[in-house]
Amino acid sequence: MRIITHTCSACGTVVAANELEDNRVMKCPGLGCQEVLRFDDLSEDAREHFLDHRDRYQI
Ligand SMILES: [Zn+2]
Repeated sequence: MRIITHTCSACGTVVAANELEDNRVMKCPGLGCQEVLRFDDLSEDAREHFLDHRDRYQI
């Protein structure tokens, strides 16, 4: 299974796509990082793949 993640451009924290999808917009979980991460930050290809297979990404 393909792992879809987003890497914060400010601090390098890696966030799983399902966390972004749950929240759509979330503050970066990185310590002291104020960056806002969005599901839309994922590439279109990654978003489509995730939404097509979202049931497999539920934990
Ligand atoms: Zn960050």
